[in-house]
Amino acid sequence: MTTTAHSVQQRRDLRTEIPGPRSRELHARRSAAVSSGVSSGLPIYVERAGGGIVVDVDGNQLIDFGSGIAVVSVGNAAPRVVDAVQQQVAEFTHTCFMVTPYEGYVAVAEQLNELTPGTHDKRSALFNSGAEAVENAIKIARTATGRSAVIAFDHAYHGRTNLTMALTAKNMPYKQGFGPFAGEVYRTPMAYPFRWPTGPQHCADEAFEMFVSNVHTQVGETNTAAVIVEPIQGEGGFVVPPPGFLARVADWCRTHGIVFIADEIQTGFCRTGDWFACDAEGVVPDLITTAKGIAGGLPLAGVTGRTELMDSVHGGGLGGTYGGNPVACAAALGAIETMRTEDLCGAAQRIESVMAPRLHALAGEHPAIGDVRGRGAMLAMELVEPGTKEPDPALTAAVAAACHRDGLVTLTAGTFGNVLRFLPPLVIGDELLTEGLDVLAAAFAANA
Ligand code: PMP
Repeated sequence: MTTTAHSVQQRRDLRTEIPGPRSRELHARRSAAVSSGVSSGLPIYVERAGGGIVVDVDGNQLIDFGSGIAVVSVGNAAPRVVDAVQQQVAEFTHTCFMVTPYEGYVAVAEQLNELTPGTHDKRSALFNSGAEAVENAIKIARTATGRSAVIAFDHAYHGRTNLTMALTAKNMPYKQGFGPFAGEVYRTPMAYPFRWPTGPQHCADEAFEMFVSNVHTQVGETNTAAVIVEPIQGEGGFVVPPPGFLARVADWCRTHGIVFIADEIQTGFCRTGDWFACDAEGVVPDLITTAKGIAGGLPLAGVTGRTELMDSVHGGGLGGTYGGNPVACAAALGAIETMRTEDLCGAAQRIESVMAPRLHALAGEHPAIGDVRGRGAMLAMELVEPGTKEPDPALTAAVAAACHRDGLVTLTAGTFGNVLRFLPPLVIGDELLTEGLDVLAAAFAANA
C-alpha cells in the first residue's frame, strides 16, 4: 500500500470553543488518571493530524506551528513514514539490536554518518530519546578523553534525566526539587546578542573570552572532557549566537583535546534550512546528538561522531533494550527519504522567507516585541516591557492563549518564559502559513 497524500484537509476550521466539550471531558478523565506533574500547553485532545493541521476530538482543525516540539518536520503521519512503519511492524517489532541485530539500525547509522557535518570517518549509536543521546555523548567523551568535566552554557536545555538536568540551565520547571544533580558540570555565559550586557556588537568576543577564562580558571583544560552546545538554543528561547562564536569554541576545544558536542536534537534534520544548524557556519562537531525530527514522530535518537571517539568505548558499554528499535528505524528511513526527495531544507528556507518579514513587520507595530530571531523554520520573538529588556511572560502567555483560541498551535520558550517560538512542519503550505501569521497578528492586536 502506498499512501500518496495526507488525508487531513489543509484548512483551519473551528467548530467549538477551544478546548471543546469532548476535549474537556477527556481532560477531566486525564486529571483522574495522569500525574499532574505532566502538563499540556494546549489541552485539545488530538484525533488526527497531517501536513500543517491538527484535528481534535471536537472536529476543530488547528494550524500547527509547533510540530510536537520540532518532531514532525516531515508532517504528521507522513506517507513514507506510515508506509515504512506499517511494513516493518508486520515483519517484526523488536529483537533488541544487542541480541540479534537487523538492517534498519545499520541503514540509519549510515544515513547519520553521511548527513551530519564533516566528511571524516564516523560511527553512530542509536537510543530512544534526546536526553539519552546526550547522556551517551558525555559517556563517550569521558571514555575517549579519560577526563570528567563537562561545560554547558547558560540557557541550555539538554533533557530531564539526572545528568541532563545538570546540563540544563533553567530551574523551573525542569530541575526544581529534583536534585542532587550529577557532578562535574560547569556553566559559562551563552553568546546571547539581545541580552548581552555591553551590547550585541561585543557579544561574540566577550562570551568567547569568558568561556576560555572560565574553563581555564575554574575547571582546567586537562580536566575537561567535553563542551556541549545547541548551535541555536531551543528551550532557552531560540538564542542564535553571533556568526563565528561556535567555530571559535570548536577550534579552541580541538587545540585542548576537548570533545566539542553539538546538541542538534531540536535544530537538526532540515529545521534551520540545512541538514544541521552547524552546516550554516561550517562547524564540524566531534560528536553530534540527534533526535526529534529524525523519525517523523517515532522515538529515536542518535549519537554520531569521529570513529576514534565512538569506538573508544568497550564493547557493551553503549546500548539499551529499545535503542534503535526496528519500527523507529524504519520511520527514520522514511522520514529521511522524505527530507531528501521533497527538499525539506529548501522548504525550511521558504518558510523563513514567508514568516520572517511578517514577524519583523509585527515587531515594527508592537514595541513589546523586543527581538525577532532564528533561522529557517525555527523562528521566535522575545517579548518585553516596551522600551526595556524586562521580560514579559504574561503577555507571551496571553498572545499564545489567544492564538490557541483562534486555532493556531504555538509554543512558548525562554529562560524568562517570554519567547513565542514557531516550528511549523516543513511540509506546511504557504496558505496555512500566512493564515497562521494572520492569527498571530490578531492575537497581538488584541493583547499587546
Ligand atoms: N536537547 C535539546 C536541544 C532539546 O531540544 C531536547 C528536547 N526539547 C532534548 C535535548 C531532550 O530530548 P528528549 O525530550 O527527547 O529527551
